[in-house]
Amino acid sequence: MQGEIFPDPEAKHPYTKDSAGHQGMPVVVAVPRSLLDFQIALDIARDLKVPVIARGAGTSLRGQSVGEGLVIDTRRYLHRILTLDRNAMTVKVEPGISLAALNTALATHDLWLAADMPLAEEVTVGGMVGNNAVGCSALRYGETAEAVKAMDLILDDGTQALFGSFGDGGEMVLSNARLNRLIPELFQIADTLGVKNQASGVSSRFSNTGGLVNFAQWLVGAEGTLATMQSVTVKLAQRPRYRLSAAVVFSDLVQMVSQISAISSLDPVAIVLTQATMRGRASVSITFDGDDERQCRQRLLDLEALVLSLGLAPPVVSDDGIFGEPVSRQDLCVQDCLVPLPLLMDVVWQMDQIFARFGTQSVWRGHVARGAFYLRPTFARTGNTLSGRGELHAAVGEFLMRFRRQDASAKVAAQMKAAFDPQNLLNPGRTAVLTR
Ligand SMILES: Cc1cc2nc3c(=O)[nH]c(=O)nc-3n(C[C@H](O)[C@H](O)[C@H](O)COP(=O)(O)OP(=O)(O)OC[C@H]3O[C@@H](n4cnc5c(N)ncnc54)[C@H](O)[C@@H]3O)c2cc1C
Repeated sequence: MQGEIFPDPEAKHPYTKDSAGHQGMPVVVAVPRSLLDFQIALDIARDLKVPVIARGAGTSLRGQSVGEGLVIDTRRYLHRILTLDRNAMTVKVEPGISLAALNTALATHDLWLAADMPLAEEVTVGGMVGNNAVGCSALRYGETAEAVKAMDLILDDGTQALFGSFGDGGEMVLSNARLNRLIPELFQIADTLGVKNQASGVSSRFSNTGGLVNFAQWLVGAEGTLATMQSVTVKLAQRPRYRLSAAVVFSDLVQMVSQISAISSLDPVAIVLTQATMRGRASVSITFDGDDERQCRQRLLDLEALVLSLGLAPPVVSDDGIFGEPVSRQDLCVQDCLVPLPLLMDVVWQMDQIFARFGTQSVWRGHVARGAFYLRPTFARTGNTLSGRGELHAAVGEFLMRFRRQDASAKVAAQMKAAFDPQNLLNPGRTAVLTR
């Protein structure tokens, strides 16, 4: 193996936490230089029966990218664009490429992977697929799953397999004994348990279009618990020529939430809550994009009319198309979650009560997705310390675990985990698959 291996605590330190502060000490960290290195690292872990945690930038907020096993850093070297098909508007990439690097490379072709992630310079395509990331412009462009066409996977036993569209005319073939067993098992799981969509976790996204089933979809949101991706093929979109944002300050969160459907009817690409506290003002950035500048500006005027009718200050317009969300890796997040819009205020109110009990206050951030809100509570600092943070993590983690156990899709997840990874060595212990 030509890449680096970090066995000592100091070198492993950067890999011991995610962005929300979940912790785990890797047994060893591998930084593969090539896909061959990547395969060798996985071979060694399998032989030694050491759990594997594939890692992109480690910006996850639920502990998905930390663990006590072999942590594989894909971001440092596995960031090549493998093939770009301009006619099909697809690109095949190594998993460690960052969203920003990919979109910069695609800009010369007026194409992009249509997602606006906070921390785009850092987050990797592998990590976005692993989490089924819901970017700021999900309202228009959807979640990551919608772009995923295929993946080259390494399965638990080292089998390499293309997962993509399967069926008459699909590119995925059952080329070996392992796949010959696994695929019928997956069909059986889908048949017995039915279909249900969800944003993250092992899902049973099982679409059947024109006789083709896309098996790559099964792996989106699986948090590295089912198989390891060595490349991903995603669908691209034409890059819009204009993008304009407007900053609006609502009296409070309740007023902001009550206006979401009116603002959505103006067809924005993104509605981003940049900052709000329970009892303070709510700052929001609303963005329009398209190829017709006049149309974008008209939408801004419509937004201004709406805002003025509520007695608020006129929006502040920015021509550089930036969302204006002040985020950093140091933001202290507890758990991110996708909340159905009708439940949003209730969830915020109840969580605010919990935070108050722990003597801390929450600052609310997030963005509107389709029919839901991607909510990211962050702690307000009290002086330079945070109270009750560890206990809060544990409380929320346990709550999610209990909640997930009651969810019917957890049964699908558990069966999929058993089919893909019977020895439970791929990122064990994640809520995505409920292994405890
Ligand atoms: C301030 C802030 C804002 C955020 N905002 C959002 C947001 O708006 N929407 C959102 O969805 N998320 C958000 N996140 C969470 C996170 O940034 C994203 O989910 C991001 O896509 C994770 O990318 P990553 O490269 O850091 O992945 P990692 O955290 O490194 O990994 C994510 C998961 O993917 C798996 N994985 C990575 N590579 C592979 C591979 N090769 N094979 C198999 N599995 C793999 C990992 O095991 C892990 O389970 C935010 C985080 C922060 C700190």
